Amino acid sequence: EMFGQLTTGLESAWNKLKGEEVLTKDNIAEPMRDIRRALLEADVSLPVVRRFVQSVSDQAVGVGVVRGVKPDQQLVKIVYDELIKLMGGEVSELTFAKSGPTVILLAGLQGVGKTTVCAKLASYFKKQGKSCMLVAGDVYRPAAIDQLTILGKQVNVPVYTAGTDVKPSDIAKQGFEEAKKKNIDVVIVDTAGRLQIDKAMMDELKDVKRVLNPTEVLLVVDAMTGQEAAALVTTFNLEIGITGAILTKLDGDSRGGAALSVKEVSGKPIKLVGRGERMEDLEPFYPDRMAGRILGMGDVLSFVEKAQEMQQEEAEDLQKKIMSAKFDFNDFLKQTRTVAKMGSVSRVIGMIPGMAKVTPAQIREAEKNLQNMEVIIEAMTPEEREKPELLAESPIKRKRVAKDSGKTEQQVSQLIAQLFQMRVRMKKLMGVMEGGSLPTLSN
Ligand code: GDP
Repeated sequence: EMFGQLTTGLESAWNKLKGEEVLTKDNIAEPMRDIRRALLEADVSLPVVRRFVQSVSDQAVGVGVVRGVKPDQQLVKIVYDELIKLMGGEVSELTFAKSGPTVILLAGLQGVGKTTVCAKLASYFKKQGKSCMLVAGDVYRPAAIDQLTILGKQVNVPVYTAGTDVKPSDIAKQGFEEAKKKNIDVVIVDTAGRLQIDKAMMDELKDVKRVLNPTEVLLVVDAMTGQEAAALVTTFNLEIGITGAILTKLDGDSRGGAALSVKEVSGKPIKLVGRGERMEDLEPFYPDRMAGRILGMGDVLSFVEKAQEMQQEEAEDLQKKIMSAKFDFNDFLKQTRTVAKMGSVSRVIGMIPGMAKVTPAQIREAEKNLQNMEVIIEAMTPEEREKPELLAESPIKRKRVAKDSGKTEQQVSQLIAQLFQMRVRMKKLMGVMEGGSLPTLSN
């Protein structure tokens, strides 16, 4: 499985949170060390690991409780979101020329799979209904020209060659003119690779780039080289200016370092990935799918997402009610029940800043109050719950609620007053300072 070792390394982090109730600075310390180790072992570059771990820790400690979601699941989700961000967030699409052929210039060191990518790309575009031409710009190795010609035949795409005696920039120019004449949609230019970066290669690439004015300049890098791939993307970008990278050999036992480091280190996105030797093994790089594969927990992720969405919807619903001052006893009840579901009142109070030092007696008192409120609200008619004004206006109704709930009339009046106070306070909290005035209960 791709990045299997990374997946396993991360699993030990989640496992350490089993049985915990909330994420705290203390209980995430060990899982965060596991995450850090797993990323380093996957050959992610150290500064990237540091930033990543810091960001995940910050979010984990500050994360709000989502009902029904366990802390280890919450951490999985935070890591997932952060992995996506690390890899650039959205899929980074290839751009196409507005008029005339789109020119894609491919660069890369020898053996990374550049020639293979040329043919794969051609096949990829053909499937999209675009016509393609390959240009053999690697003039140093006759074998490279032959290889491109063979691959071109294989995917049924013309290959422009001019032997080994012509300057690469001239071949590129000629190939482009030829493609223009033939109304070709996409021209893919192969260039010479070297075993290592050297000045001659960079100068040649600059030359080709100048005469071609390509739409995309893509550096092909080998996933097996880990964070070295990210360093290469940075260097090529500084030297010649590139628009992105293509990551090859993701099907091998690469550890993930390249996929996770390229964007963050170089600022340039991975646009496509190669996942095999066959011509159809080339696809866009989807950060979210990649993050999902790394974590290998699709079900947990969608569950957490749904829970968060639901909570968000409820919150928005509530906000609407508050803004229109329609917050009623049904909402009141929902809120207290939410508090109850989230665990004990003490835990919730503990999460409110400045409220940490409540005594156990105060907590018991608060819990008893909540229970009393529920009993009183249950004694109201549905209409009264929705329109608390009815109770505010009618001592007779309040008397009936008191009798049915077994509480005193004073307790009932207090609760009603509290609801109206809440309406005003909540509106103020929402930034609507005009608020409203508190109704006084009529006798
Ligand atoms: P170049 O020197 O950069 O042009 O590299 P080639 O295109 O000749 O590829 C070098 C070797 O890597 C060949 O044996 C390819 O079949 C292989 N290769 C290229 N891309 C992939 C890939 O995505 N996965 C795997 N497993 N092998 C690949």
